[in-house]
Amino acid sequence: MDFNPTREQKELKRTIKRFVQEQLNDGSALARDESQTFSRELWRKCGEMGLPGLVVPTKYGGAGLDALSAIIAFEALGLYCNDGGLVFSLGAHLFSCVVPIWKSGNEEQRRRYLPGLSDGSLIAVNGMTEPSSGSDAFSMKMRAVRDGAGYRITGSKTFSTNGPIGDLYVVFAVTDPDKGYHGGITTFLVDADTKGVTATRSMSKMGLRTSPMGELVFDEAYVPASAVLGVEGAGSAEFTRSMDWERVGIFASHVGQIERLLKRAVDHARSRSQFGNKIGKYQAISHRVADMRIKLEAARLLTYRAAWRLSQGRNATLEASMTKVFVSEALIQSALDTVQIMGAYGYMSESGVERVLRDSVASTIYSGTSEIQRNIIARWLGL
Ligand SMILES: Cc1cc2nc3c(=O)[nH]c(=O)nc-3n(C[C@H](O)[C@H](O)[C@H](O)COP(=O)(O)OP(=O)(O)OC[C@H]3O[C@@H](n4cnc5c(N)ncnc54)[C@H](O)[C@@H]3O)c2cc1C
Repeated sequence: MDFNPTREQKELKRTIKRFVQEQLNDGSALARDESQTFSRELWRKCGEMGLPGLVVPTKYGGAGLDALSAIIAFEALGLYCNDGGLVFSLGAHLFSCVVPIWKSGNEEQRRRYLPGLSDGSLIAVNGMTEPSSGSDAFSMKMRAVRDGAGYRITGSKTFSTNGPIGDLYVVFAVTDPDKGYHGGITTFLVDADTKGVTATRSMSKMGLRTSPMGELVFDEAYVPASAVLGVEGAGSAEFTRSMDWERVGIFASHVGQIERLLKRAVDHARSRSQFGNKIGKYQAISHRVADMRIKLEAARLLTYRAAWRLSQGRNATLEASMTKVFVSEALIQSALDTVQIMGAYGYMSESGVERVLRDSVASTIYSGTSEIQRNIIARWLGL
């Protein structure tokens, strides 16, 4: 494995840096965080850059990047973009919705959805979690009952990222309660304007406040059989694969955030003086910074290795779980360390660091909690 970026990947990173600095970092992120506002305008600009469809083949309107290049692009977004919520919304859209349609959709579904999902005109939502099923996701209650040439879906999804603004829902429902996880769960592509489907309240949260979240309620919503993604009963496998991508893709942006935090910590440690010395000269500070650097390196290598496996079409479930646990915990610790190193300056909203800390807290929860990732890793060890 050679993880030295290619000339194209270096150019991609430079292009994203330029795009983010010129188009996305317009100085409004703090205000939008305070008002919990999503910017459709910035999403549109991301669409023009092809970010919502990075891995989608060009014949379906995407950028056609391999997994590792897409991961490098997301790392660059995390490194340069001031709006962590926007990057999170993009990641949820791409890795847990667009990838499954690209991988498992039939030709008609790909042609119908992928161009709009790639150019920013459509926003997708992954609906798995329900009020009574979080970590135990496959104990879901949402039912899809066969009715003539289609299905009637009833139930509700919660904590759905992009829910209040979504155009397309990738939802999982029970089609055969007796089979459950083993062939009884099916993935459906449901247009937001389907009769009987409502995106209800916007949820207020601690961080990622520029990324909208809500509930989806299905009341005997009728969808044609052509709404099934892949084949009936393949929902658990679909979900597992989309989580492999999400646990690498979204967390690549967190690797970028760790690098940004490290830069802030180093700059502050080199410029702030107390007791007649730069604070970076005190070992309590410099060792904390050194540990951040080690975490960054390990986080990046885990992420690249998992992305490389995705690029090769190899199974990446174990690697994705290890990446997810390590990167999320490294991000939270790095954000805490940076606030501590910057003292009150880091605690102030205008520093932007406290926002990264608030944003980071959810990273050990979404895409499966740290505890669940450790359960998955233990299972791979035969435990
Ligand atoms: C910002 C954010 C965005 C999200 N976006 C989406 C989305 O787009 N779509 C979607 O479907 N969902 C989404 N979710 C929901 C997310 O997937 C769930 O929150 C997550 O799976 C955990 O479920 P829960 O919150 O119900 O916690 P619970 O499952 O109730 O867990 C509570 C605690 O118990 C622990 N626990 C549970 N079972 C075990 C066990 N067997 N062993 C050890 N510990 C255990 C958990 O680790 C956790 O610490 C999002 C969540 C957040 C915070």
